[in-house]
Amino acid sequence: MDPRTIKLHDCEFSTYIFEEEIIARISMLAEQIDQDYAHKKPLFLAVLNGSFMFASDLLKRVTIPCEISFIRLSSYQNMQSTGKVKEVLGLTEDVHSRHVVVLEDIVDTGHTVHNLLQQLNERGPASIEVATLLMKPECLQHDLNIKYVARSIPNDFVVGYGLDYNGLGRNLRDIYKIV
Ligand code: 5GP
Ligand code: MG
Ligand code: MG
Repeated sequence: MDPRTIKLHDCEFSTYIFEEEIIARISMLAEQIDQDYAHKKPLFLAVLNGSFMFASDLLKRVTIPCEISFIRLSSYQNMQSTGKVKEVLGLTEDVHSRHVVVLEDIVDTGHTVHNLLQQLNERGPASIEVATLLMKPECLQHDLNIKYVARSIPNDFVVGYGLDYNGLGRNLRDIYKIV
């Protein structure tokens, strides 16, 4: 595949992970989830906005009975994680005694997921696991066990396939990294 570069706001990005690879990796996750959650009727909680494409492509390939819902966390800006507690918005499902699978776009420091898991655990789920499109293991600052990772990446800022740079880039079908 030919490399491409794009400009979003003031920054240049170049192609990094192509759609074909993303879909292949997501297909493997879906198979694993099908096996692990057969007869458990999991509740998938996709964290908006970043996980919308990942959630869609993953859940199309999950064949077991499941429920799907969407939550948001209060905001995050620019390229740096703030580490602030983000409130869970829009959770209307009763997660008590459910097998919950959180769908995330990317785990960087892990503050967001750590926080989210704490808030969800207070509601007494039967189990919680996390499925993330991307993970930056070098940046992780929490003792988190992320069971489903489509792709690990080094500490580069990436956009596309749901991920944005100050609002732009979510619609890109490939993942780009900052040049
Ligand atoms: P954490 O709390 O794990 O440090 O960061 C998680 C959130 O930071 C992600 O949900 C995402 O919104 C944002 N983030 C972290 N790294 C990146 C990146 O490389 N690109 C983009 N677009 N967002 C990122
Ligand atoms: Mg996220
Ligand atoms: Mg963002």
